[in-house]
Amino acid sequence: ATPTAVMVATGIGANHGVLVKGGDALERAQNVNYVIFDKTGTLTQGKAVVTTAKVFSGMDLGDFLTLVASAEASSEHPLAKAVLEYAFHFHFFGKLPSSKDGIEQRKEQILSQWLLEAEDFSAVPGKGVQCLINEKKVLIGNRALLNENGVSVPPEAESFLVDLELNAKTGVLVAYDSSFVGLMGIADPLKREAAVVVEGLKKMGIHPVMLTGDNWRTAQAVAKEVGIEDVRAEVMPAGKADVVRSLQKDGSIVAMVGDGINDSPALAAADVGMAIGGGTDIAIEAADYVLVRNNLEDVITAIDLSRKTFNRIR
Ligand code: ADP
Ligand code: MG
Repeated sequence: ATPTAVMVATGIGANHGVLVKGGDALERAQNVNYVIFDKTGTLTQGKAVVTTAKVFSGMDLGDFLTLVASAEASSEHPLAKAVLEYAFHFHFFGKLPSSKDGIEQRKEQILSQWLLEAEDFSAVPGKGVQCLINEKKVLIGNRALLNENGVSVPPEAESFLVDLELNAKTGVLVAYDSSFVGLMGIADPLKREAAVVVEGLKKMGIHPVMLTGDNWRTAQAVAKEVGIEDVRAEVMPAGKADVVRSLQKDGSIVAMVGDGINDSPALAAADVGMAIGGGTDIAIEAADYVLVRNNLEDVITAIDLSRKTFNRIR
């Protein structure tokens, strides 16, 4: 393609909200064999909502939610935001003044009135968070987090959790002072266009893959809904780029679509990195493309644009 053709294509892309950083990336997209999608925030809306909270110890549900919210208040993770929202509504539903606007603005102030002080907070990548509350250790996250801290999940809780996961929900487990306390089920609906885009890629001869840190059962359930057969689940943040490299080994051209900090190494490793607009700045920096509209149809738009630009003029 001539420099003019590349310039025209770049302009057409920009008009559709597909920003491409340079002619090389534009050229590589035509030959993509695999499109790897991050699950949370990429295939899904990234608007996690708590659907269940269940205590398995004697703890009062309100106290349980206070504990969880206090620990998650320092986390930026979408799951943490969902948990805080749920706790907030549990504590204040029915006590809200008539104007909801005021409440939204005062939320932080209101929350701070009943949140407990969390000390030594740390995020455990791919697993959850931990901190100290009332000098006792609080763990919130997946099985791996509880396991590596020697906390066992009782059988009734485990079977409740499995049920949630089979229904495409992510389970968040909670331990206090080395004992399992309860869990929450969190739903994050697929983007409306996700299944159509997956189908479209298959028709173009491209192999779609789902990549996630979430557990196998949840990942499989979501993959089934969206029509993806190739699933890579329980992948630690550092492992996402390895998945890209393993697919590239036989010379395949790999595109990666993602939104989070976790995804940036994989976006950089991919032949074509596509960051979802509204995603993390670090992801946007690592990518070759930015899909400004946060619409997965633009993955196809980007590949089409490359095919048209380079096939026609070759
Ligand atoms: P993804 O690849 O889907 O973006 P992450 O690597 O961010 O997933 O997280 C993997 C898993 O770790 C989550 O599915 C969840 O079980 C657990 N997790 C991570 N952060 C948190 C948190 N702040 N609260 C609860 N669970 C968490
Ligand atoms: Mg994500």
